[in-house]
This record gives sequence, C-alpha cells and structure tokens, in this order.
Amino acid sequence: MIDKKGRKINYLRVSLTDRCNLRCTYCMPEEGIIKKSHDDILHFKDILKVIKAASNLGVKKVRFTGGEPLIVKGVDELIYETSKIQGINDISLTTNGILLSDKIHDLKRAGLNRVNISLDTLDKDKYKAITRGGELNKVLDAIDKCQELGIKSIKINAVLIKGFNDNEIESFIKLTKESTIHVRFIELMPIGEGVKFFNDSFISSKEIINRYPQLIPVEREEFGTAELFKLKDGKGRIGFINPLSCKFCVECNRIRLTSEGGIKPCLHSAEEYNIKKYLNNEAIMTKELENIIYNKPLEHHLGEDKLSGSKKMMFQIGG
Ligand code: SAM
Ligand code: SF4
Repeated sequence: MIDKKGRKINYLRVSLTDRCNLRCTYCMPEEGIIKKSHDDILHFKDILKVIKAASNLGVKKVRFTGGEPLIVKGVDELIYETSKIQGINDISLTTNGILLSDKIHDLKRAGLNRVNISLDTLDKDKYKAITRGGELNKVLDAIDKCQELGIKSIKINAVLIKGFNDNEIESFIKLTKESTIHVRFIELMPIGEGVKFFNDSFISSKEIINRYPQLIPVEREEFGTAELFKLKDGKGRIGFINPLSCKFCVECNRIRLTSEGGIKPCLHSAEEYNIKKYLNNEAIMTKELENIIYNKPLEHHLGEDKLSGSKKMMFQIGG
C-alpha cells in the first residue's frame, strides 16, 4: 500500500527472537540479555497471521532476522508456510551464518530465495574478538555451501568500523571479482551498544568509496538501500548502505515486526504498536496495520542527532 508520503510499502522484516549465539561488541552487551518467557514471544502461527495481514495490504517481501533467527527451531517450516501465503513472492534471511551451513539445504527447499550473512572481518582472531567468541570457519563454510546450492542472492554485510576493518576493504571487495557474491558495507549506527563505539569508530561510506577508484558505479536496485559499484569484470556487486551520511527515508519501503509482537514502522523512530491484541481477527489486524503503515514516520534523525530515536536495540528490532 501507499503511505501518506507516497511511499510504496511492500516489505516486512520479522524478528524471530532477540536472543543470539554471538555477542558482537557494537550490538549486544557481553552478558547477553534477559530471557523472555515463551508466552511473551510470538509463535510461528501468530507470525504467519501478521504476514497474512501485511500481504492483504500489498506486502510481497518478507525477511526473517533477529537476534539470530537460526537459533530458533523450525525456521524452514516457517519459511514454507510463508511461501504459501498469497502475494508473498520473496523470502529472505539475515543471519550471522554460524548455524547456516547445516540448515541452508532445508531452508532453500522450504522456499528461501536470498540470504544476507553478517561478517565484519575475514581474519579469524579479529572475528573471535568482535563477536566475542565466534568461529570464522563456520561462516566461511556456510558461504561456500550457499554457493554450492545455487542460492540466487548471497550478500555479505560488513559494518564499517574505523581502526578495525577499514584495512580489510580490499579483501572484501575482491570477493566480488570471481563470484556472484555481493558485499555491502554498512555505516556504524549509534543504536544500542553501537552508541559506545560511535564517536571513535564511525567512518563514512564516502570516505571508503574515495579510497578505491577501482569501484565502478552501477545503477541502484529498485527500492534498494545501497549505493552500488562493481569491479571491472567483477561478477558481484559492492554496496554501501549509508543511513547516516545519505539516508534513504524517501524511498523506505519497509516495516518491522518484533519478536514480542510490536510493529515498528521506522527502525530509528520511537513508534511501536502492539499488534498482539488483534491476532484473533484478521480484518481488524489488517485495518490496524493499514493505519500504522499510512502514518509511517516521514524520516529518522540519526544523522542530525547522532543517536537513534528507537527505544529498542538492533538485536531487539531485527536489523
Ligand atoms: N544476528 C543476525 C546477523 O547478525 O546478521 C541478524 C540480526 S543483526 C541485529 C542484523 C544486522 O544488524 C547485522 O548485520 C549487524 O551487523 C547489524 N548491526 C547491529 N548493530 C549495529 C549498529 N550499531 N550499527 C550498524 N549495524 C548494526
Ligand atoms: Fe547477534 Fe547479529 Fe547482534 Fe551479532 S549483530 S550480536 S550476530 S544479533
């Protein structure tokens, strides 16, 4: 459907949990989070009701995220059930990749079209440090497996962190030379634990782009949030997602569902609406969603305020 600013909203991101098997320093506190009771979290049948209501309003794309979505059992079943909802034609997943290698076969068979894997460094010791314990090999194995299985879109997402990975940009870029993998660099955002790192570690996409004259600009995808480039003869694309230095609110096409049943129409604004109370009535749920979408905030103020307006952290919203 079209919101009051004329934006076409057709994309729902669904956070399956706020728990995670890693503790990336800029995302989650070291001690983890207080575990929610089973009853506070939406069950798959409830999530499917929200997706159905969203599809009534023209949502066509669904992405499952978290926390770490793959620590939740049965994501393949959820994907399969989602694929049966009329109107949904694209199902994707954002994951840290640790558990992906064993699961990707079933996920693909269930109907998963695209996968985004978060990976901020290609060095195993640095990976262990930034994730507080993660094993890089597991993620690299998962990327290989996705390629072997012919997943049609594999994107590696790396958060740009000054003094940590800005000396690895070339190695990331090279991944796109021989394979169709896309690499996307994301500006560090002052949200959650990221607030603590922001002043010292933020580096803009522009600064990185200026360092690499070999990047050839290519046309952006429709509704794409990334500024796109390629290498000469490169098979994959290199993207820069610039929520701070060049925000994409005018083209934003998405809303989010948290694992507790909150609809967030904007990642960096405080607005959140509890949709749980409408789970038993599809017509009312659709009407409520319609109102929320129509009144989606016009824009966020991350760049000006240097602080997210969201009261929730990335792992609670689903990045
Ligand atoms: N656990 C999954 C993963 O890491 O892909 C999905 C959830 S995670 C919250 C989604 C994305 O948010 C990851 O790519 C992560 O790097 C990104 N993220 C978390 N905190 C961030 C921050 N402060 N600034 C920029 N990106 C952030
Ligand atoms: Fe977990 Fe993803 Fe946050 Fe890392 S970025 S702590 S993998 S939710």
